[in-house]
Amino acid sequence: MSVLVVGTLALDSVKTPFGEVKNALGGSAVYFSLAASIFTQVKLVGVVGMDFSDEALLLLKEKGIDLNGLQKIKGKTFHWKGEYHYDLNAAITIDTQLNVLENFSPKIPLQYQDTEFIFLANIDPDLQLNVLQQLHSPKLVVADTMNFWIERKKNALLKLLKKIDIVVLNDGEARQLTNEPNLINAAKKILSLGPKQVIIKKGEHGSLMVSSSNFFSAPAYPLESIFDPTGAGDSFAGGFVGYLASHKNLREPEMKKAIIYGTTIASFTVEDFSINKLINLTKDDIEKRYRRIKKITHF
Ligand code: AMP
Repeated sequence: MSVLVVGTLALDSVKTPFGEVKNALGGSAVYFSLAASIFTQVKLVGVVGMDFSDEALLLLKEKGIDLNGLQKIKGKTFHWKGEYHYDLNAAITIDTQLNVLENFSPKIPLQYQDTEFIFLANIDPDLQLNVLQQLHSPKLVVADTMNFWIERKKNALLKLLKKIDIVVLNDGEARQLTNEPNLINAAKKILSLGPKQVIIKKGEHGSLMVSSSNFFSAPAYPLESIFDPTGAGDSFAGGFVGYLASHKNLREPEMKKAIIYGTTIASFTVEDFSINKLINLTKDDIEKRYRRIKKITHF
């Protein structure tokens, strides 16, 4: 079963205490697609400008990612400039240049409109809504967002939350969206806004999956060296949705396994800048680390 993703393809300039990259390949849809493609076929909908390199497109194609929904238009690619200090859980946005995203209207190719597993990656919530309107009968819709959109497009985001199955966001965003400091209460408030489940990512402290009837707390993989947390959230989502789509089973035990696959892939992403670690990942690397997480959390 394939997955459809709409989100950003970006050139990221990122600085962490361990180094820096300029105009590196990034974006929510890129990280998601690379992670999900380890499990299943991915169809990507997004937009880039003329400065987006053919090498980057080739790299995505070589991973089997279907780019028929990708538009390359006049103008510059979305650019994000961010920084992390020693608290690697908190990304500090220095600059966001929407560029080609400003007038982007996603067009879902006819052959994508029946896709059952959908990931609305972090992008303008109006565009996420626009995509939903073009789909026929998705089985699972998962959406992500961030502070940038909570601040600028809260009404569109609230409208979106009513139409999706699962929302994935980080702890700071959950608190910001609900004005609620306690994460359990924040999760309950988010459920009352529409989604059937909420997944709250807590960086190096793992994640929580909460629905009205279930609660699952997952650890993060205990890494000793993290170089760049950018993309952790999107590759987590890629592992989560990619695994679910490949198993076509949305029952609780599969959901929990999907969370651990997401956790595992995110732990690799942060071990290098940009997508450098993610592109060379093998299923075997993932399985080994998945089993290790299982071992260290079992009692
Ligand atoms: P994360 O997985 O949450 O670390 O997201 C990382 C990616 O989000 C980066 O590669 C950025 O290009 C992208 N990004 C940053 N700001 C935005 C935004 N406002 N909308 C969509 N994507 C963004």
